[in-house]
Amino acid sequence: MKEQIAVFPGSFDPVTSGHVEIIKRAAPLFGKIIVAIGANSQKKILFPLDTRLNWLREIFTDSPNIIIDSYEGLTINFCKIKEANFILRGLRNTADFEYEKTIALNNRSIARNIETILMMASPEYAFIHSTIVRELIQHGADVKHLVPACVIQYLNKKP
Ligand code: ADP
Repeated sequence: MKEQIAVFPGSFDPVTSGHVEIIKRAAPLFGKIIVAIGANSQKKILFPLDTRLNWLREIFTDSPNIIIDSYEGLTINFCKIKEANFILRGLRNTADFEYEKTIALNNRSIARNIETILMMASPEYAFIHSTIVRELIQHGADVKHLVPACVIQYLNKKP
């Protein structure tokens, strides 16, 4: 049987404990998960792409079926290049659901063989948003309960 490959796309600016939890829960369901940073030029990014890639590599260093990558352009085209048949996304609330539904239906209209899989966030992580975490970091708040240790180490080292 063909290996089931999922792409988990996002900005991961920064990666949060919510992202990590979804990826860990999804890992046993697929042969391989490609955690892929979309280098989307329209988004205002706080952390450089290399830094975001390094965080993800460090977090999943002991998980051979979790691959870290980045891409430009459409997620669906990246999936085709990687022969991935699933797009994995996390759901925190109904706002996420409405947003993801529109994207999933658009993707399905152009690539019927790629299924979007939506996973509910665990309640203890459902309030974590990268956007808010960025704002907290920019104002010097302690975010160690929101992000993995490698992000905190990076922030502590920054002049
Ligand atoms: P985007 O840049 O498209 O908003 P993110 O990089 O923030 O995406 O997140 C990537 C994926 O992770 C999205 O599917 C998003 O819904 C999911 N996600 C983000 N935060 C959480 C969380 N706290 N719990 C579960 N899923 C999350």
